[in-house]
Amino acid sequence: MPATPPDHMHAISSDTERAVDDVLDYARRRALYQDVPLDKPMTPRDLERLASGSITAGGIGARRAIALFENVLAPACISTDHPGYLSFIPSAPSKASLAFDVVVSASAVYGGSWMEGAGAVFAENEVLHWLAREFGMPAAAGGVFVQGGTIGNLSALVTARDAARRRAASDGRQAPARWIVVCSAEAHSSIASAAAVMDVDVATAEVDADGRLRGEAVARVLDEHGAAVFAVVATAGTTNFGIVDDIAGIAEAARERNVWFHVDGAYGLAAMLVPELRPAFDGVGLADSLIVDPHKWLFAPFDACALLYRDPELALGAHTQKAEYLDTLTGKPDWNPSDLAIQLTRRARGLPLWFSLATHGTDQYRASIAHGVELARRIADEIEARDGLSLVRDPQLSVVVFRRDGWSLADYEAWSAKLLDDQQGFVVPSSHRGEPVLRFAIISPLTTFELLTGILDTLE
Ligand SMILES: *Cc1c(COP(=O)(O)O)cnc(C)c1O
Repeated sequence: MPATPPDHMHAISSDTERAVDDVLDYARRRALYQDVPLDKPMTPRDLERLASGSITAGGIGARRAIALFENVLAPACISTDHPGYLSFIPSAPSKASLAFDVVVSASAVYGGSWMEGAGAVFAENEVLHWLAREFGMPAAAGGVFVQGGTIGNLSALVTARDAARRRAASDGRQAPARWIVVCSAEAHSSIASAAAVMDVDVATAEVDADGRLRGEAVARVLDEHGAAVFAVVATAGTTNFGIVDDIAGIAEAARERNVWFHVDGAYGLAAMLVPELRPAFDGVGLADSLIVDPHKWLFAPFDACALLYRDPELALGAHTQKAEYLDTLTGKPDWNPSDLAIQLTRRARGLPLWFSLATHGTDQYRASIAHGVELARRIADEIEARDGLSLVRDPQLSVVVFRRDGWSLADYEAWSAKLLDDQQGFVVPSSHRGEPVLRFAIISPLTTFELLTGILDTLE
């Protein structure tokens, strides 16, 4: 029998108080680091040597466990909020948002149903409705914060197919043998992944020379496949280049043919909040569904994707789980976030963004997003001006893709490894049309022109 009483972990005692203090002390220190260390991964063998054996029958105690995390495990994780983290899409949570993430845990809030989490759900909806207004969606639009863009895209597409099935049934039409989703070849990998999960086909429409998908190209593919198409996906800011498709043209092509229109804005749609950039996003308000990831360019911690529907009723029809033990929830007209996506139990993961937005106001967000776009333009000019470097394409948002003339993939990889080893930056090679390239994805307002030129200097 265990030597400790069953409430040992839960009761307030000097032990549990110390554990909470130790963790919050570390969280406070980490959140307020002046210079966040970039850090880098370790081999499994090294971690095995330095960090194994923490799970024991009697426990090693909070102090030892937190020391193990602070001194060994955390330094083996690259800090995605470091201003020199420029790969993939970085993360740059505001201090207010990351601190509030601790509160979300401490409060044991359940974010799945109105009955259990009304206050949290209300605050999340304040943010979702603000976003919907900014994006030009109608007042009845609504949605939910899900784990990430991958689940957001999948949930939206499942809703779209469900709506198409119902429409076909009510029109007395036969459902097609295979459903099809239309997107561009530049669409994010999560669309193909969603299609695989849903067992539907993907038809790709060709982008123009500038990498944008346009309405005419979509219209051609739609006419080729007819009633088998259940959704069209436009990308508002491609991951590799930050290119915004011709959203208005694609929306029109979809509308004319009565096809669901989804906008994947996981990374780039945040830029629509900057007034000068709004025109590039014309037509977003016509979307039947859209996503934007607060953990990318809205300065919230992992993980959060805002998923919005023009008509949330259609999402309820597709996603509400039915069971006897849920009847008390689903029998009411309450707003239950769980019912709008692929999930049941859910963290109120929109709250860190809510708190930070409430604290700082929307103007600060617009300014912080604009910083990334301005910096991308400045460093693009600098790249053009330097011998041996050339831009692959003018940046539209905050992604800058360029090449070091004469370098092979092996050269880029060796350079990238050294840059990380020197703890100067995290920039991994990407590729474009089979050619290796370099890519700066700029999110953090702490990333400076000088930091970027310092990295360019190492390319000589
Ligand atoms: C990042 C990204 C996704 C996937 O989002 P996750 O949050 O990583 O799941 C989807 N689409 C685009 C355009 C993205 O940039």
